[in-house]
Amino acid sequence: MYLKGRYNYFQFINMQTKIINSAKVASQHIKKGNIVAFPTETVYGLGANAYDEKAVKKIFKAKGRPADNPLIVHVAYKRDINFLVKEITPSAKKIIKEFFPGPATVILRKNEIVPDVVTGGLDTIAIRMPASKIAREFIKACGVPIAAPSANLSGSPSPTSFVHALKDMKGKIPCILTGPDAKYGLESTVIDCTGKHPVILRPGSITLEHLKKLDKQTKYGRSTGKIKSPGQKYRHYSPKANVRLISDFGSKIANSKNKKAFIGLSKKLAMGYELVKICRTPEEYAMNLFSFFHKCDEMGIKTIYCEKISEKGVGAAIMNRLNKASIK
Ligand code: AMP
Ligand code: MG
Repeated sequence: MYLKGRYNYFQFINMQTKIINSAKVASQHIKKGNIVAFPTETVYGLGANAYDEKAVKKIFKAKGRPADNPLIVHVAYKRDINFLVKEITPSAKKIIKEFFPGPATVILRKNEIVPDVVTGGLDTIAIRMPASKIAREFIKACGVPIAAPSANLSGSPSPTSFVHALKDMKGKIPCILTGPDAKYGLESTVIDCTGKHPVILRPGSITLEHLKKLDKQTKYGRSTGKIKSPGQKYRHYSPKANVRLISDFGSKIANSKNKKAFIGLSKKLAMGYELVKICRTPEEYAMNLFSFFHKCDEMGIKTIYCEKISEKGVGAAIMNRLNKASIK
């Protein structure tokens, strides 16, 4: 038994990873119980048949993801949500109507049909309907809901292109479905809809301001007390380089010979770096953040200085990722 297990493990990490552009071919891997990386408008996902416990376990193994960090279940049609949940609450209905398909994820009470491994043992489930054409084509071809976290190693920056997904998943998965680079570049907004009013557990491109237009009482989840979104407690989004947050020209920049980089909105902050990315808007900052982290690691940058911005609109999501990425 022991030898058999070891043999399977080596087979798993030495797998040849093919780059493909056919959603149909990618779906055939899913039907065989394998896992596949695929493009979405937020970041690249690493998907498995949500009803196949064995396949879903492969995701946790490939990512090195803690078992109590639940996955998001992706659907191609709104009607598929009914199979997965006990009830679509009034607050979820409004969000689904307004923001599905798109970069918003709703949390609802789960049905028994969903294996516990998908939800990390929680009695709730996270559901999203991607807007990306190729993602939807892929999920439709699979014919089942697709459980998928981001297609990166646990703790690393999320992939916004197939090249990033390949870097982390090469040799671990049979194929990567290619498509356009991620339009938003940050993971979806996770919204708890189990209560009377929506609670944002993870900020994203659908902002507090957007959600307040549907329900004025929408709030961010408290960071203290019982953690409702388990993913929030882990180290996240971190490149190999150190991430430092700066807000003005007087900020202390390491006076070392080590390579350093800057990303932000202000040209005047961007002097003295080997690599610089100036973004015209917070949305452009969001779209470029993770790809910049990947590029910095490729270039051997030691410290990435990121401009702190106002937590209005998508700024809240950018600051959430930057604060986590800067924890070592
Ligand atoms: P990822 O797709 O890698 O960004 O991870 C999915 C995110 O959704 C994680 O931060 C999870 O904590 C969160 N999530 C998934 N399911 C639930 C759930 N049932 N309740 C709260 N948060 C969830
Ligand atoms: Mg992730």
